[in-house]
Amino acid sequence: MTTARRPAVLGGTPAFPGELPFARPLVPPLDEVMTRLKASYDRGTLTNGPLTRELEAHAAERLGVAHVVAVANCTAGLMLALRALGPVEKVVLPSFTFSASAHAIAWNGYKPVFAECDPRTLQLDVGDAGARLVAAGAGALLATHVYGAPAPIDAVTELCARRGVPCVFDAAHGLGAEHDGQPLGRYGTAEVFSMSPTKLVVAGEGGLVTTNDDDVAASIRIGRDYGDPGDYDTLFPGLNARMSEFHAAAALASFELLDEHVDRRRAIARRYREGLQGVAGLREPEVFIGDRSSYKDFSLIVEDAFGLDRDALRHALLLEGINTRPYFSPPVHRQKAYAHLPAVDLPVTDAMSGSVLSLPMFGDLRDDDVDTVVEVIGALHAHAAEITHRT
Ligand SMILES: *Cc1c(COP(=O)(O)O)cnc(C)c1O
Repeated sequence: MTTARRPAVLGGTPAFPGELPFARPLVPPLDEVMTRLKASYDRGTLTNGPLTRELEAHAAERLGVAHVVAVANCTAGLMLALRALGPVEKVVLPSFTFSASAHAIAWNGYKPVFAECDPRTLQLDVGDAGARLVAAGAGALLATHVYGAPAPIDAVTELCARRGVPCVFDAAHGLGAEHDGQPLGRYGTAEVFSMSPTKLVVAGEGGLVTTNDDDVAASIRIGRDYGDPGDYDTLFPGLNARMSEFHAAAALASFELLDEHVDRRRAIARRYREGLQGVAGLREPEVFIGDRSSYKDFSLIVEDAFGLDRDALRHALLLEGINTRPYFSPPVHRQKAYAHLPAVDLPVTDAMSGSVLSLPMFGDLRDDDVDTVVEVIGALHAHAAEITHRT
């Protein structure tokens, strides 16, 4: 690895004067989306029509699950999935997740009970979650497949079975990921996927709820349509969370690219991993043995031995034109939206949130751009003392 490069933070030439984005959707060709949309459009069926049914059937077959309910977005899907569990009052979830996981709990009027993450994997710490579940008398558990790597599915399933509580997986990052050789979508009481622009399958906006439970599926189908079972006599205050035919057309075309897209992201992750191997103080969150990540994100934990902390590294990369994100920082329990809750002590989550950094990752990221990011990070490590001294 060359360290000859002079970092931009020390006056060198930026590696990407034109900027390297953090994420970019891998979109299917527009004419393919239009071809799929045409029949519904010409007939005047603009939402919740045959393309939505086709998407649900395609996803159910691909993921190997009895029911797929397409919804307007993953957040609404999580809201409806949690609603379908019946009144639960309190739900345990990791604080190391995206805010929407907790918002879906709060919008139901339930109370989020935040649990720790495992410092090796950054996934839910199931031991801690179990203790908090019992202490709070919580009625359900929500676990996130963080960065597209499966959550500790078997341990979560075992905990929920032992305690007799349902479990929802926030599978926003999960299309393309595998557990024991099987795609996600069949685990827990329900899983909820996102098809927003930073995810692997893109609908523009869209979500998929998967479940093998007939009653849960029926509740979500009614819930996405105002709570109306079909006779305008609504059963509960539902949402308008239907998927439009435009979004279903884009999602169907995008699904065609998924296998290739996941392969490409895994190759990019491998290239980052091999390139950064020799750099001290950078650690990749572990994926459980037998699981495969979708690499919705490629993230690193920046430790003392690197020489710069996460924020200094992020700033130096930005000066090179390299966009990164500190996913997930601040952790949800530190966000203003949850400041009214009783204080909770989550030291591991705080430490991890303060040291994670997600690098540029998208389907058409080029190998030589990955190599340049690797080279820049190596140069920043080599110049860490000088950077710390000068800035
Ligand atoms: C993107 C994301 C969501 C929200 O998905 P939308 O489709 O944008 O509502 C929820 N949870 C996680 C972990 C996410 O990354």
